[in-house]
Amino acid sequence: MKFEVTILGSSSATPVYNRNPTAQLLNCNEKFYLIDCGEGTQQQLIKYGFKASKIDFVFISHLHGDHYFGLIGLLSTLHLNGRVKPIKIFAPAALMEILVLQFKHSETIIRYPIEFVATTADNPSQIFENNDVIVETIILNHRIPCTGFRFTQKKRLRRLIVDKLEHERIPIEYYPMLKRGVDLTLPNGQVLKNIDYTLDSDEPKSYCYCSDTLFDERYFSSIQDCDTLYHEATFLHEMLDRACQTHHTTALQAAEVAKIVNAKKLLIGHFSSRYKTLQPILDEALTVFERTELAIEGVTYQV
Ligand SMILES: [Zn+2]
Ligand SMILES: [Zn+2]
Repeated sequence: MKFEVTILGSSSATPVYNRNPTAQLLNCNEKFYLIDCGEGTQQQLIKYGFKASKIDFVFISHLHGDHYFGLIGLLSTLHLNGRVKPIKIFAPAALMEILVLQFKHSETIIRYPIEFVATTADNPSQIFENNDVIVETIILNHRIPCTGFRFTQKKRLRRLIVDKLEHERIPIEYYPMLKRGVDLTLPNGQVLKNIDYTLDSDEPKSYCYCSDTLFDERYFSSIQDCDTLYHEATFLHEMLDRACQTHHTTALQAAEVAKIVNAKKLLIGHFSSRYKTLQPILDEALTVFERTELAIEGVTYQV
């Protein structure tokens, strides 16, 4: 099952040096989850070959413009392109007010349903579940209410050893029960031990998205043992004072978080416009956590 994230924007605050404000597209079993939607996100989707119409879920971390200014444009385009299926948006409550106001004054009546779910930044909670994934909020510490999101795959059914089943001419109607792990007795008395005909499915993985935040141990339990941690790394550590004032994290701190929570892999992004080249940011994080990569636009990372 596919579980991968494509970076559509990795800049903080403003678009600069060909870096766009924050947006990511998570593909979980060919369902698409847009995480934040900075200005220019729909252009980025086109540039990297994704169809906006395939996005059914949008998660907005907080209401600083670099995380949602692209949303009204994207929603309008979906409307103009004749979308009829609903879109589900998880975001701070005030975002709906903002959208309603924008649609009101442009006299736009969106012809598809927007199912809005208000997030709150008080306690971490599960906000979504389908057959593929569970989504929980991560309570971050920023200047305004801000939640990250943890996406955890659901455990899949067991995998059939099809060659063996076909070779022994086991009727296909028994396959679903075998997938569920059941031992079977056939009408002729033959016993099929499940373990002989199936393999365990892959262990479920999890992706944690931590957008703007201070280094704050209160959110660490929400991201413990994740497979891929995306964490903002707005500044180099020499700018720690500035990071604290603006409620952001340094590259060194992001790497410390990854180490403390036992993440398997760290992706860093949300780079300040003061950095034209990103290598120093990567180098700094690597001193603490060696499985670190830069979140580069257009690149797809396996969770
Ligand atoms: Zn930001
Ligand atoms: Zn912010």
